[in-house]
Amino acid sequence: MMRKVLVTGGAGFLGSHLCDRLLADGHDVLCADNFFTGSKRNVAHLLDHPYFELLRHDVTFPLYVEVERIFNLACPASPVHYQHDPVQTTKTSVHGAINMLGLAKRVKARILQASTSEVYGDPEVHPQREEYWGRVNPIGFRSCYDEGKRCAETLFFDYHRQHELDIKVVRIFNTYGPRMHPNDGRVVSNFIVQALKGEDITIYGDGSQTRSFCYVDDLIEAFVLMMESPRGFTGPVNIGNPGEFTMLALAEKVLALVGGRSKLVFRPLPADDPRQRQPDIALAQEKLGWRPKVGLEDGLRETIAYFRRTLEA
Ligand code: NAD
Ligand code: UDP
Repeated sequence: MMRKVLVTGGAGFLGSHLCDRLLADGHDVLCADNFFTGSKRNVAHLLDHPYFELLRHDVTFPLYVEVERIFNLACPASPVHYQHDPVQTTKTSVHGAINMLGLAKRVKARILQASTSEVYGDPEVHPQREEYWGRVNPIGFRSCYDEGKRCAETLFFDYHRQHELDIKVVRIFNTYGPRMHPNDGRVVSNFIVQALKGEDITIYGDGSQTRSFCYVDDLIEAFVLMMESPRGFTGPVNIGNPGEFTMLALAEKVLALVGGRSKLVFRPLPADDPRQRQPDIALAQEKLGWRPKVGLEDGLRETIAYFRRTLEA
C-alpha cells in the first residue's frame, strides 16, 4: 500500500538510506532537511524519481503538509556538529518535536522519533535495557543533544497520553555505513578516513571505552518494522548491534582492513565521554522479530569502499 511519508533529516546519513528504502517499498516520500549536516548529494540519485520530493525546511519552524507517516530524524548526530551550535541543537530536538507532533496530530499521522542511546548517558547498567532511566549530565557539553533527545521523548509520550497520538520511539545505538559525513568526527568515519589518507589514527583517552556498532542496512530494516508494528507498541525500543568493541580494537580492525602505515596516537578524552555502550535488544527481538545481520567486519568493508570512492572523487 502506497503511503505519503515525511522524512525529516532525509538528506542526512540515515535519512537518505531511509528514503531509498521507502521508495523501493513503493511509498511517496517527502524529504525535509535544512542541509546543516546533510547534503543534496546524498539524495541526488532520487531527484528524478516520480514519488520523491525534496524540501528545504528547518523543523524548528512549523510545516503544513498532508502525510500519513512521519519519520522524525532531523538533528545533527555527531558530537562535533551538535556542539557547534548547542542552542540550535536543543531547539531542533525540542521545537522540532513539537512541530512534527503538532503536524501528526492535525493530519492524524503515525510518527516515529529517532531517539538515541545517549538518553542513557554514561550508564551504570550494562548492557542498557529500555527500563533504565540513564545517567546524563544536564549541564555538560553533550547535554544539548542528550537532554534535547530526552525532552523529545517526553513530548512524544505526553502527546500520546494527552492526545492519543500514534507514536513510535526507537533508541538508536552507534550506526555507521556509506554516506556518513567524512568530517563529522564520529569514530568510524574518522578512523577510516585517517587510515585511507595514511594519517595518524586518533584514539581519545586510552581507547578502552566501548561502543556497539550497527550497520545502516540493519537499522533501516528496524525503522520500517517499527513504523508498521501494531498500534499498541510505542517503544521506546533499543536498536543496535550488541557486538561491543573497545576503540582500540576498532582502530586495529580498521587498520587491518585498510592496510597502510597509519600509527595509533592518543588524544585527550572529551568531557562526559561514556565509558561503555551496549544495547540489550531483547525487546526488539520479541516485538519486531528483528536482530542485526551484518557483522562489524562486513559492514566496515562496505564503508571503507564508500570512503575510498569518495576520497578518489
Ligand atoms: P546526520 O547528521 O547525517 O543527519 C541529520 C540530518 O538532519 C541532516 O541531514 C541535517 O541536515 C538535518 N537537520 C539538522 N537540523 C535540522 C533542522 N533544524 N531542520 C531540518 N533538518 C535538520 O545524522 P544521522 O546519523 O543520519 O542521524 C539521523 C538521526 O538519527 C538523528 O536524529 C540522530 O540523533 C539519530 N541517531 C543517529 C545515530 C547514529 O549513530 N547515526 C545514533 C543515535 C541517534
Ligand atoms: N573517538 C576516538 N577517536 C576519534 C573519534 C572518536 O577515540 O577520532 C571515540 C570517542 O571518544 C568515543 C567513541 O570513539 O569514546 C565514539 O565516538 P563517536 O563520536 O563516534 O560517538 P559517541 O561518543 O556519540 O557514541
